[in-house]
Amino acid sequence: MLQALLRVTRKRWIFILCVFITFALIILGVRYWRPAATPQLLRLRAWLADPAAHADWAVQAGERCGNALMIIPTDGYIGFGWDDSFRLGHRHSGLDIFSPDGAVNVTPVVAAYDGYLTREADWKSTVILRHADFPAVDVLGIAEGEQIWTYYTHMASRDGHESFIAAEFPPDTQERFVKAGTLLGHQGNWAGSQIQFTGLHLHFSVVKSNAAGSYADEQVIENTYAPTLLLGLKRNEEEIWGCGSFNDIPQR
Ligand SMILES: [Zn+2]
Repeated sequence: MLQALLRVTRKRWIFILCVFITFALIILGVRYWRPAATPQLLRLRAWLADPAAHADWAVQAGERCGNALMIIPTDGYIGFGWDDSFRLGHRHSGLDIFSPDGAVNVTPVVAAYDGYLTREADWKSTVILRHADFPAVDVLGIAEGEQIWTYYTHMASRDGHESFIAAEFPPDTQERFVKAGTLLGHQGNWAGSQIQFTGLHLHFSVVKSNAAGSYADEQVIENTYAPTLLLGLKRNEEEIWGCGSFNDIPQR
């Protein structure tokens, strides 16, 4: 009788232990799982560890690749491209350009194209530019005279307390005309919340208009265009983005 009871108790303990171990593994997995170290991630790590050693990987703010329609919006290494995926089921809607400077509020961010700047009242780190009457880009499906937008974000401190957007563009700025190359702010690492973190970079995207004529939700890749073609960027044989040349897009 006693032996039978002990056996049951032991079984129950083993069961509880198994449940505990399973939960512990799940929690550790969610907390510490990282995607496999792809060449792309290894290169990004190498860049972040020592940008100066890889200066040839960087693009420059204000540079125009050939006769591309848009100019490069900031300095740095393009660590993630349009349509890259860094989580299951995720498609990146823009370019992530990682600063060569290693400190926030140093690396300039400039307008990629003439346009009308809006900074919504609650935007700490973001501005968007409206580009009316854009030239046709058949390969991307941009129609002649279409209205598109360029979106620039992460221009604030990690805790979100300090904005690095240029003083000329305070919150609730609406439709302020800026020329291509105008300083919009400086790179930061605010990810949009206190629990999310991001490295020091600019997220840049080219966004479609919605049915109401405003900007569409830029986090949905279908609402964006591939910025690389508009910036004249191409991947080289080592998969690093740099100035390329295209014969199939309109030139300035
Ligand atoms: Zn991004």
